[in-house]
Amino acid sequence: MGKPTGFLEIERKKAIDTNPKDRIKDYSEFHKELNIEDRKSQGARCMDCGVPFCQSSYGCPVSNLIPEWNDLIYKGNFEEAFQRLIKTNNFPEFTGRVCPAPCETACVLGIIEPAVSIKDNENFIINLAYEKGWIKAQAPEKRTGKKVAVIGSGPAGLAAADQLNKAGHEVTVYERHDRIGGLLMYGIPNMKLDKGLVQKRVDIMAAEGVIFKTNSAVGTDIDARELKKQFDAILLSCGATKARDLPAPGRELSGIHFAMEFLHANTKSLLDSNLADGQYLSAAGKKVVVIGGGDTGTDCIGTSLRHGCESIVNFELLPKPAETRTDEYPWPTYPRILKTDYGHEEAIEKFNKDPRVYSILTKEFLGENGKIKAVKTIKVEWNKDEQGKWQMKEIPGTEENYEADLVLLAMGFLGPEEEIIKQLGLDQDSRSNIMALYGEYATSQKGVFAAGDARRGQSLVVWAINEGRGAAKAMDQYLMGETILP
Ligand SMILES: Cc1cc2nc3c(=O)[nH]c(=O)nc-3n(C[C@H](O)[C@H](O)[C@H](O)COP(=O)(O)OP(=O)(O)OC[C@H]3O[C@@H](n4cnc5c(N)ncnc54)[C@H](O)[C@@H]3O)c2cc1C
Ligand code: SF4
Repeated sequence: MGKPTGFLEIERKKAIDTNPKDRIKDYSEFHKELNIEDRKSQGARCMDCGVPFCQSSYGCPVSNLIPEWNDLIYKGNFEEAFQRLIKTNNFPEFTGRVCPAPCETACVLGIIEPAVSIKDNENFIINLAYEKGWIKAQAPEKRTGKKVAVIGSGPAGLAAADQLNKAGHEVTVYERHDRIGGLLMYGIPNMKLDKGLVQKRVDIMAAEGVIFKTNSAVGTDIDARELKKQFDAILLSCGATKARDLPAPGRELSGIHFAMEFLHANTKSLLDSNLADGQYLSAAGKKVVVIGGGDTGTDCIGTSLRHGCESIVNFELLPKPAETRTDEYPWPTYPRILKTDYGHEEAIEKFNKDPRVYSILTKEFLGENGKIKAVKTIKVEWNKDEQGKWQMKEIPGTEENYEADLVLLAMGFLGPEEEIIKQLGLDQDSRSNIMALYGEYATSQKGVFAAGDARRGQSLVVWAINEGRGAAKAMDQYLMGETILP
């Protein structure tokens, strides 16, 4: 284990990120590292519990061997820590940056003290591995002669492609956009996950033999039925990209956009021309209203601030969460508690005011000359009915107009798009996701598998990696009659 008395002696220590006022001047990553001695001390805090809940089903979805690498960090055996880390996680450089770390809310030390800084420890190991050149392209020694198509290049598709390639299959990844990575590339902004890092991983996979085809939309440019004939198995990892709309009166006004239009265009323009081509929706000098919280809402706030918006407000339909765990979310479950994320921090610093408004419902978009001018809202209250279900009620007399010249809709996603599903005649579940049992990943059509947000609905990067790995195992079993994959 780490240091036997480490948890008693050492406090959790966070690295100091770049100051919000400075970091909104550009799109660079702002998360800083601790020095090596401090990082070793953080590893020493791990208690190596009899039951490590951090890596259980309540904690890390890829079951990272957390206590083992915490101990190796403490002892300074960093290369061994890296080898343990990549046994369970294909892409720690992504999770180490963007994972909400359910491992930490399930950490046993976290019951009485601040949890072990597991996510930062993970990030440290993988950053060091890149720095030291421990990550090298390793093509498989033998090929099986089987061909697999992966449709969609987000974390689910990439994890599956990585595993299937390791098993010796010839893997081709189809992506409709011009860059590989799914939401790692065109959803999560650069300041949270540097796109050079995503590309670096893609380049390593390409050197290992994975074939990437960009600007290739299956279901439209390429007939999915043709692909099915050409390949021995297909994985659908095309995400849950149908955005939830807000059909309030005035929705047709200009200046109202889905969050992904805003975020995708911004990253593309940033990467293509450092925003010089102007091919993005600018929030500069605008009064911005972001409707919907969550990661997408936060990313809209962070990006608007970097454009230089005049003001920013963020609506959340639900009430303000508690600051600490409530009985509704007992340890070791992942609690819904108030999380002041990077975008909120930055807005508070810039405008001296929290941008979030809770328990608020959008009633109407008000415009002038076809352009959005304000958002009409009403406050709501939430109470449980006799069956214990939460019910929302508008509070009369609480109507308010918020000035706006850019409205961003960040209210989540409604499942995968339909073209491929229709072409292949796949069954869907009640939420319109592709029907395939967790753990089996086989759809209603033989040889067609599904994983990630397209199967489970909108989720997290770490769950997409979990599903990509699981689907690869199921596909290897299908192709070979047995599997060597974990
Ligand atoms: C703005 C935003 C921020 C987020 N932030 C976080 C975060 O901080 N932490 C976290 O854990 N999770 C975050 N998430 C969620 C996370 O990104 C997703 O759960 C995860 O990326 C899902 O992975 P996936 O591989 O299933 O799908 P995706 O990443 O959505 O990738 C699917 C890919 O398939 C492609 N595709 C779709 N249809 C076709 C087709 N017909 N032909 C070819 N290609 C196709 C798409 O273009 C896309 O590239 C965020 C989501 C959003 C929208
Ligand atoms: S992947 Fe996420 S849950 Fe797993 S150890 Fe890393 S931060 Fe924790």
